[in-house]
Amino acid sequence: MDKKIKAKSILSVGFKLLCPKCGEGKLFLNPNPYNLKTLAEMPSHCPNCQLSFMPEPGFYYGAMFMSYVITVALSVLNFIWAYLLWGWTTWTYLIINTLILIILLPYLFRAARSFYLAVVYRFEKNTARFN
Ligand SMILES: [Zn+2]
Repeated sequence: MDKKIKAKSILSVGFKLLCPKCGEGKLFLNPNPYNLKTLAEMPSHCPNCQLSFMPEPGFYYGAMFMSYVITVALSVLNFIWAYLLWGWTTWTYLIINTLILIILLPYLFRAARSFYLAVVYRFEKNTARFN
């Protein structure tokens, strides 16, 4: 019961797919995101600190907006290195960027949920949702 719980940054727990409260509990039951049958399976509570991973029904619909933000940010980064640094044509960029996004899709799906939970928890950790 005396586990030391440190505040973790949204970026740190978001990319690592960890609990936003303790930074140690894993958000997904299967650590391999490319096993598509178990892609979205999450425990109901953090195994380490008991934070609810499903604060309300339909909570993760909001992760769609986070998915959009992550996808656009990744596409802009891809544009910078592909077009500005390597001088690729627009069509080459579009094809390579699409392939990268498709390959990373399972991880990005989980990262969107992770970032969404981390952001909501950061701003609402003292509300009834998480207590
Ligand atoms: Zn936790």
